[in-house]
Amino acid sequence: MTPEELWQATLAQIQLMTSPANFATWFKDTKISFLEKEKVIISVPNSFVKEWLEQKYHKVIFKILKNLEPRVKRIEYKVGKEEEERVLKKIDFHKIASPQLGILNLEINEKTNLNPRYTFSNFVVGSFNELAYAASQAVVENPGKVYNPLFVYGGVGLGKTHLLQAIGNEIFKKFKKLTVKYLPVNSLVSEIINSIKNKKIEQLKSSFQNIDVLILDDVQFLAGKEKTQEEFFYIFNSLYEKGKQIVISSDRPPKAIPSLTERLRSRFEGGMIADISLPDFETRIAILKLKSQERGINFSDEILNYIASNIKNNIRELEGALNVLCAYSRIQNKEIDLKIAKTLLKTLISPTPKISNFKKVIKVVADFYEITEKEILSSSRRREIVKPRQVAMYILREDLKYSFPFIARKFGGKDHTTVIHACEKIGKELQKNDELFEEIKQIRNRIFS
Ligand code: ADP
Ligand code: MG
Repeated sequence: MTPEELWQATLAQIQLMTSPANFATWFKDTKISFLEKEKVIISVPNSFVKEWLEQKYHKVIFKILKNLEPRVKRIEYKVGKEEEERVLKKIDFHKIASPQLGILNLEINEKTNLNPRYTFSNFVVGSFNELAYAASQAVVENPGKVYNPLFVYGGVGLGKTHLLQAIGNEIFKKFKKLTVKYLPVNSLVSEIINSIKNKKIEQLKSSFQNIDVLILDDVQFLAGKEKTQEEFFYIFNSLYEKGKQIVISSDRPPKAIPSLTERLRSRFEGGMIADISLPDFETRIAILKLKSQERGINFSDEILNYIASNIKNNIRELEGALNVLCAYSRIQNKEIDLKIAKTLLKTLISPTPKISNFKKVIKVVADFYEITEKEILSSSRRREIVKPRQVAMYILREDLKYSFPFIARKFGGKDHTTVIHACEKIGKELQKNDELFEEIKQIRNRIFS
């Protein structure tokens, strides 16, 4: 592999593990500027990115690179010089890769905050999402009149954002006079918090008054934020009472959102609730076919079957797998056979179903927080060790159902009440701390997918 191909393949995999925003922030304009024997130099646009990659992404980058190119032993990050850049421009793979990797796919409509790439025409419907789809269609036909609010819930990467944005885009196109607004709830939450601080909350609230269709993505982020929920309720209610359409998504049903005030919960439950479950094999194939058509590349049925049989519970990952193959085949300019596909998808698809056991949890949690397995099992009281240790205990208990005494023994013979305390602490903290919530979600993804 040439440096460009190598970096290309690495990026495609990193993209699977990061949010689109993070990916664009930290990996845009990066490249391998040097690859010789065991050493790789990754050139980055500024020192801020350099520091961030060194501190937060180094392990991941190293692992993936090594997997693709076993000789790699050392990685350095350098702020790229203009000159180097000019030389590399000729083979600037970002130009080739961006459309597939979605780096430049940020043409967000300023008025609506919607990304026009999400439409109904590129949304595959199967039994797993047909209820949510039908309800969305009804909303598009008659905004504010049929299902209000429409509440869609389902797991990560299963098309909630896509569906919500498609509703918005379609209404925007169809009813030119209606004001449509799409908002991720976490950004609304920080807006609310800031405007409370700056005494501008009334202004913020009144800025919502002319909205006809309000689309709120990932409403589970309201969990545990009482004051914010109060203001949110006001915004919600004033639109609701005027018969304005509200569409909401969440990773779980209203009942399961911790410490949601009763009146919000009952509002959320007052319209239509539709879930998105997991796509079956046929649907996964249909999605892969559609996505490869979009990318202008045909893969053999054999390859599509391989991907669809191995990636089952996340459409974003299905897409990710295709991205890896597309990037490779573009650059190599040749068809990919099953053998190459298997190699390229090695890190994404494990050959045997992963069995999660004690060791795995320890490894993933330690890796995630960038400490060693020895440290996590030690009795160190350093904060940066204590938290990962408690998180590991929590997951071992909650997900693997190990007994408290068993966990205690494994962590150097601690008293089992220490484990109980840790689990309770994390459990409580999870309800109010989004960051921790996200961390544990990602850790679980790594352990169980
Ligand atoms: P969520 O918001 O539920 O985490 P997204 O809406 O971001 O998931 O979907 C993840 C990726 O999968 C997106 O790129 C989206 O376009 C794609 N996707 C999800 N569901 C479908 C579907 N039914 N048909 C086509 N693409 C889909
Ligand atoms: Mg989403």
